[in-house]
Amino acid sequence: MKVLKFGGTSVGTPQRIKEVSQLITSDNQSKIVVLSAMSGTTNTLVEISDYLYKKNPEGANTIINRLEHKYMQHVEAIYSTDEWKTKTIQFLHDEFDYLRSFTKVHFTSFEEKVILAQGEIMSTNMVTNYLLECGVKAILLPALDMIRTDKNSEPDFNYIKERTLSVLQANPGYQIYITQGFICRNAYGEIDNLLRGGSDYTACLIGAALQAEEIQIWTDIDGMHNNDPRIVEHTLPVRQLHFEEAAELAYFGAKILHPTCIQPAKFAGVPVRLLNTMDPTAPGTTINNQFQAGQIKAVAAKDNIVCIQIQSSRMLLAHGFLRKVFEIFETYKTSIDMVCTSEVGVSVTIDNDSHLADIIDELKKYGTVSVDKDMVIICVVGDLNSGNVGFETLACEALKNIPVRMISYGGSNHNISFLVHAQDKKVTLQSLSDTLFGQKV
Ligand code: ADP
Ligand code: ASP
Ligand code: MG
Repeated sequence: MKVLKFGGTSVGTPQRIKEVSQLITSDNQSKIVVLSAMSGTTNTLVEISDYLYKKNPEGANTIINRLEHKYMQHVEAIYSTDEWKTKTIQFLHDEFDYLRSFTKVHFTSFEEKVILAQGEIMSTNMVTNYLLECGVKAILLPALDMIRTDKNSEPDFNYIKERTLSVLQANPGYQIYITQGFICRNAYGEIDNLLRGGSDYTACLIGAALQAEEIQIWTDIDGMHNNDPRIVEHTLPVRQLHFEEAAELAYFGAKILHPTCIQPAKFAGVPVRLLNTMDPTAPGTTINNQFQAGQIKAVAAKDNIVCIQIQSSRMLLAHGFLRKVFEIFETYKTSIDMVCTSEVGVSVTIDNDSHLADIIDELKKYGTVSVDKDMVIICVVGDLNSGNVGFETLACEALKNIPVRMISYGGSNHNISFLVHAQDKKVTLQSLSDTLFGQKV
C-alpha cells in the first residue's frame, strides 16, 4: 500500500480538489491519502486565535465569517448534487459555529490547538464527501484515533503503529482511506499537532508504521530543488537524495519537507518521493538509502538562529566542561544545532530562544558569554566525506566575501554548515549556487 500526502496548495481550490481526487483514483489500487488544510486556512486559524488571545471576539468573528463565506462558495463549486451539497453545508455550518463558540470561553493554548485542528478536519471531510459523490469507495479515518505524541511531544511510534494497523483492519475493502495530516492527540489525550508543515510528518509516520511500499509527498513544485527557489533564481530539481541528505536539508530549512519527517521513513527503509500536483508526470525527487558518491546535492538555510559563545581559558580543557555546558541546554529543553570548540572557548547555536536569558545566566558561571542574534545556518548537503577531496574548499570559496561566524564540518559525511548574518543570507545562497552548481542569475 502507498501513502500519498497532498499539501495545502494541492487541495487549495475546488479545481485542485477535483484534480487530486482524479489523481488518487486513476488506478484501482487501494491507498492512504493524508491531506493538509486548504492553503491559507491554517494561517487564518492562527489569526483567529491571535484575536482570541488578545480578547478581541469581534475581530475573531469577522475572520470566521469571512472564512465561512469562502468555504460555502467552495461547496457550490465542488459538489454537483443537492444531497452532497446539503450534507457538506450542514457539516461546515457546525464547524463554523464551533469556531464561533471559542469567542465566548477563556482562551488558552489548549483551545488554540483545537482551533488549528479544524483546517484539516474540514478539508478531509470535504474531499471524502466529493469522492463519495463520485461513487468512489472512500472512508475518512480520523487522525485523532491513530496519531499520538508522548510526554516529550515526540510521536509515540508504537502507539501509532498499533492504532493505524487496527483501524485499517477494522475497515477493510476501501479504495481510498483519507486521513488528516498535522493533527494528533498528545500524551494526555488532548488535541495537539505536529507543528507547522506537520502533514508531511503524519504521512511518513503512517508510511513507516505500515511498512508502506512508498510515501509520496505531493506539493506545488517538482521535487527538492538544489537551493531555495523562493530566494535563489534558476534552481533545479534534485532527482535523488539519500535519507540522510534529505533529513539534513529538511532540518536545515528546506521548506518542502517538515524538519523531522524523514526520520521514520529512514528507520523503516520506506522510500519517499516528492511529486508535483501541478505536473503529475514530472519525475520529482526520490529519497532512499542509495548514496551517490562525489556529488553535492543541495543547499538550504535555517533562519532565526542565535549563536552563544562561552570563553573560558581556565575551564575549557578541564574534564566535564562541555558536559556542564550541554546540561544547561538540556535543562531548558533547548537543542543545539552547531558546535565549534577551540582551546579557549566554545560556540553553539540554538533556534529556540525562549529560555535564552536563563541559559545565559547559568553559562556565566563557566566563563564570559556573548550572544549574536539574527543569524542563519547555511547547510551544504551531499558527499562531504573527507575522502571526497575539494568540495569543502569549493563551498568555502563561495563564501570568500561573506563574514562567516562559524563553520561546522565532519559531524556527518553529508554536510558542511556555515553560520552567517541574516542580512548576508541571500548573497550567500546565490554564491553557493553559482559556485557549486554553476548557476548564474
Ligand atoms: P505544501 O503546502 O504542499 O506542504 P510547502 O509550501 O510546505 O508545500 O512546500 C513547498 C514549497 O517549499 C515550495 O513551493 C517552495 O517554495 C518551498 N521550498 C523551499 N526550499 C525548497 C527546496 N529546496 N526545494 C523545493 N521547494 C522548496
Ligand atoms: N496545515 C498545516 C500547516 O499549514 C500542516 C501542513 O500543511 O502540513 O502548517
Ligand atoms: Mg509543507
